[in-house]
Amino acid sequence: PTLRHPEHWCRSFSHFIAQCLIKDFETRPSVTHLLEHPFIKQAHGKDTSLRQQLSVLIREQQDVGNRIKTRHERINTRKTLIIESCPDDDLVNLEVLDEETIIAHLQRRYQELQIYTYVGDILIALNPFQTLNIYSPQFSKLYHGMKRSTNPPHIFATADAAYQSMVTLSKDQCIIISGESGAGKTESAHLIVQHLTFLGKANNRTLREKILQVNPLVEAFGNACTAINDNSSRFGKYLEMKFTPTGAVMGAKISEYLLEKSRVIKQATGEKNFHIFYYIYAGLYHQDNLKKYSESVKLYKEQFDAIQDCFRIIGFTEEEVNSVYRILSAILNTGNIEFTSTSSQHQSDKSEVPDSEALDNAAALLSIGSEELQEALTSHCVVTRGETIIRTNTVDKATDVRDAMSKALYGRLFSWIVNRINALMCSDGQIIGMNVGILDIFGFENFKKNSFEQLCINIANEQIQFYFNQHIFALEQIEYQSEGVDASLVEYEDNRPILDMFLQKPMGLLSLLDEESRFPQATDQTLVDKFQDNLRNKYFWTPKRVELCFGIQHYAGKVLYNVGGFLEKNRDTLPADIVVVLRTSENKLLQQLFSSPLTKTEETTNMRRQTVASYFRYSLMDLLSKMVVGTPHFVRCIKPNDDRQALRFNKERVMVQLRYTGILETVSIRRQGYSHRILIEEFVNRYYYLAFRAHQMPEGSRENAIIILQKAKLDNWVLGKTKVFLKYYHVEQLNLMLREVI
Ligand code: ADP
Ligand code: MG
Repeated sequence: PTLRHPEHWCRSFSHFIAQCLIKDFETRPSVTHLLEHPFIKQAHGKDTSLRQQLSVLIREQQDVGNRIKTRHERINTRKTLIIESCPDDDLVNLEVLDEETIIAHLQRRYQELQIYTYVGDILIALNPFQTLNIYSPQFSKLYHGMKRSTNPPHIFATADAAYQSMVTLSKDQCIIISGESGAGKTESAHLIVQHLTFLGKANNRTLREKILQVNPLVEAFGNACTAINDNSSRFGKYLEMKFTPTGAVMGAKISEYLLEKSRVIKQATGEKNFHIFYYIYAGLYHQDNLKKYSESVKLYKEQFDAIQDCFRIIGFTEEEVNSVYRILSAILNTGNIEFTSTSSQHQSDKSEVPDSEALDNAAALLSIGSEELQEALTSHCVVTRGETIIRTNTVDKATDVRDAMSKALYGRLFSWIVNRINALMCSDGQIIGMNVGILDIFGFENFKKNSFEQLCINIANEQIQFYFNQHIFALEQIEYQSEGVDASLVEYEDNRPILDMFLQKPMGLLSLLDEESRFPQATDQTLVDKFQDNLRNKYFWTPKRVELCFGIQHYAGKVLYNVGGFLEKNRDTLPADIVVVLRTSENKLLQQLFSSPLTKTEETTNMRRQTVASYFRYSLMDLLSKMVVGTPHFVRCIKPNDDRQALRFNKERVMVQLRYTGILETVSIRRQGYSHRILIEEFVNRYYYLAFRAHQMPEGSRENAIIILQKAKLDNWVLGKTKVFLKYYHVEQLNLMLREVI
């Protein structure tokens, strides 16, 4: 306590300097450094009371240091669970709130294995890259229903806060997890589900078991090994945990966004296809003696068994599961279908399948005719003037059709699995309850080459950032209002105009893209021209030197997009010939997948073909509408290094992420607004030297505060009901003046 409020002994020059040093000591605790300082020595020598205070302070500081260490040792050895929170658990408590300080604190905490830190109501989670023993049921108990300050920051505390506020206020909650790939979003989401399942103890054990199977199942289909993360989510996910009004779990519902379907047909070097393909390959094709297989095959086989269990526990029928496996195997075989060109007299660009093994396998697994499939791949029907003409496909075209078919099969299968899980987890007709939604979606991306996928991901992040801003400012405004301060003073970098540029109809970027996608003759160049002609604002530009590119000034930085393939990716066409063949299948699941569009948007009701952009816009709006009804909780995941090494803290990398995830923006928001709000009494106590004589010791009243503020000739300060509202630079100015006066 003395550490935080040293004003009452700050009564002389030496004391003042001593106080400054002690403040400094708080951020850089070095006992020798402090005791050796001439001012401390001077003050120390003269004044016995200061001497006592100092030794108390130093002892306390050492205790805090020891406590931080020991509480983690205690946690890890699990000998006892008596752990205490400590003043720097929340960065908002820090007097100085700039990049350097924040990073220094995070680094120290990370080295002490304190991976979690609060910034106000936001939780920062640094990826520990090692297993910590802090997620056991004992920990769930420890955080259950506790005040946030009781325990050290923890993901369970965030989950708990969401749950408690849902139950007490009867209001939906949402937890928004952000961060770049490999930062720990998906792990965090799991831990939240784990704690929520613990809290919402349903009498129904099976339901709890089911809920815990949802993530592993969906992730087997939606995650893959990438260069950055061995278990990288290649889709965005919003998981809603549903509770009864008394807070018992009653189900779950998933919404999926932007599955990276292209991974099915092609992976970058060092990357892999979706996990499930390796699982089924090991599980279905390596039936005999396990001994002769490699470790990885054995591991995949184990995973395959685990997935079988997931399907069973959640309630998929055996027939359904078999159909899923058949379709997956068919996709594997489809990928092996090769084409060669055959020239005949009339048609020079004809293609055929020289080796029909893969084709036959795929057709058999899909329960369709092999010849029909070959025909649909190597030719297409065109209707002109009421007449149907069959045209042949070139090798390239046939390959595109093959890939489009694989992507469509996988994409629709994935959506079907998700929908089926939802149906099995939450039957209709149940009582209306409340929910906690958990959003785990890719972070902002800026690669060497950025394409349509990055654009969609970044627009989604733009939307989430907008939501984040709204929330952070709303809180700020509430404090201003309660203090009677003009809330319109809360200024911030609003990314609304950027969002509008993307989403507005009919002149937003996505609408323009859709419009161009409808022209068969459109090219990459006409698309860029269209953007350039219609998007005239400071967030959009086309670089002069680089062709077929456009730049966007996102909230998180500039990104250059390459329009190559935008139109095709947006159209995402699956030739009608393929759909017709697939519909002839005897496989019920397959019929279902291709019977109707799986998803409805305004566009489809207009009888227009649905594009990726229009579906994306629709799902973004849908996501937002779910999020806005809930009270938000933010978790910002940070990757401390790119080598996945425990205890390694790369300052630069952390700094960049703090910027992207908006932590530093939050700081800058605090700075743009009145970053310092000091209780009037405290203010007078601290700065009365500027307007009074040292021995006067004025009363901590409004009048005296005003006298000091006027005397200091500060501008733009505001006096609230109980606090003085100051800009960040005011405090620096005041401290400088104070030093000069004394
Ligand atoms: P993201 O979803 O952000 O891409 P993940 O959640 O998949 O990242 O995390 C990547 C890896 O980091 C995990 O596979 C795991 O090894 C490690 N990791 C993340 N969070 C934790 C944690 N809280 N404890 C231990 N390891 C973690
Ligand atoms: Mg993930």
